[in-house]
Amino acid sequence: MRTFYAPPENFTGDNRAVLTGDEARHAVKVLRLREGGRIRVVDGHGNAFISEIVKIVSEHEVHVAIVEKADSADPRAHIALAVAIPRPQRMDFLVEKAVEIGAAEIYPLVFERTPRRLSGKTVRWRKIAISAMKQCGRASLPTIHEPRNLEVFMDFVGEFESRYVAHLLDGKPLLSYNLSNKAVIAVGPEGGFTEAEMDMLIENGFQEFSLGRRVLRVETAAIVALSLFMAGLGEI
Ligand code: SAH
Repeated sequence: MRTFYAPPENFTGDNRAVLTGDEARHAVKVLRLREGGRIRVVDGHGNAFISEIVKIVSEHEVHVAIVEKADSADPRAHIALAVAIPRPQRMDFLVEKAVEIGAAEIYPLVFERTPRRLSGKTVRWRKIAISAMKQCGRASLPTIHEPRNLEVFMDFVGEFESRYVAHLLDGKPLLSYNLSNKAVIAVGPEGGFTEAEMDMLIENGFQEFSLGRRVLRVETAAIVALSLFMAGLGEI
């Protein structure tokens, strides 16, 4: 069954919801769904519903009635990835895979050795996150934060019970840690961390871990670390 996204404000309280924008257009124009058809609707906050299309008002507005609650494939753990922004195509790939594997949040980070031209494309990444959420069966939409530099990001790390940083030189295997359900994993830029950046991470409670002797690209390191973490928590 096809999954569509309707944010909470599109739910009208009488067990009805409205598909708007791209979601409505996709249902009506691309898939040519009809009134009476069944779809799965997720609200991006962990709720999924089997729903019936009750009225196609236009290609911008499709009304659905909730039939029953459905399963969501969300992980129980809340794991955030804080990653140096790589080149655009690589970041697109990273966002898609991180959502599929189960990340709850992505913090795109700018480091001293991040090339200037790698600015943020938050709107694009959020769209990729929505389609990955729908494709993989999740009902919670991971938060894609605005790009920040490391210093500003440090104001956000207090909420995580454990903090980890992937580091080539020092660090034990990720799975040798006692992994917590609310954690953040940081991955540095291709140019590596500066000493000051590493010091700042350590001062803020980040524990170093290694992903082996091979130097991985940013997106590979992020995906491997997240996968290991999810496996360690029994989510994979
Ligand atoms: N030339 C850089 C390599 C950076 S690789 C350097 O010497 O540091 C990009 C990022 O991926 C690193 O900052 C680190 O966070 C992560 N990473 C890549 N391979 C890794 C490995 N084998 N172990 C731990 N982290 C790794």
